[in-house]
Amino acid sequence: MPDCVFCKIIAREIPGTIRYEDAEVLAFDDIHPVANTHILVIPKEHIATAKDLTEEHQTVLFKLFVVAKKLAQEQGLAGYKLHLNVDTAGGQDVMHLHFHLLGGEFKTSGGETRV
Ligand code: 5GP
Ligand code: ZN
Repeated sequence: MPDCVFCKIIAREIPGTIRYEDAEVLAFDDIHPVANTHILVIPKEHIATAKDLTEEHQTVLFKLFVVAKKLAQEQGLAGYKLHLNVDTAGGQDVMHLHFHLLGGEFKTSGGETRV
C-alpha cells in the first residue's frame, strides 16, 4: 500500500528498529514509546483495521499473538499488554493493523503500572 507508513517499514523504505521478522509478521519499536517496552507487531499483509479481518486471516492473526509472546519473553516481561486500536474513532492513527506490545514501566501520567 503506497502511502502506508508500516508498509514502508516492511519494504525498508523508511527505517525502523526491527525486533522480529518472518514471512508473514514484522515487529519493530514504536517511534514514540509510552512504556519501557513498546513494540508494534504487524502482519506484512496490508490489513487496514481489525474490521477488515476475514477468515483467511486466521493464521496470521494467531501468529501475531505468538510473536508478541516470544518478544515479551525476550524482554523479560512476566506479563504484558496487547493493545489494539480499531479505526479512527477507536484511536487508530496508522491504518495498517497493529498490536501495541506494552510492558515494564509506563511513561505516561497515571501509568505507574509494572507488568
Ligand atoms: P495507533 O494510534 O494507530 O494505534 O498507533 C500508531 C503507532 O505508530 C503510534 O504509537 C506511533 O507512535 C507509531 N508510529 C507512527 N509512525 C511511525 C513510524 O514511522 N515508525 C514507527 N516505528 N512507529 C510509528
Ligand atoms: Zn500497510
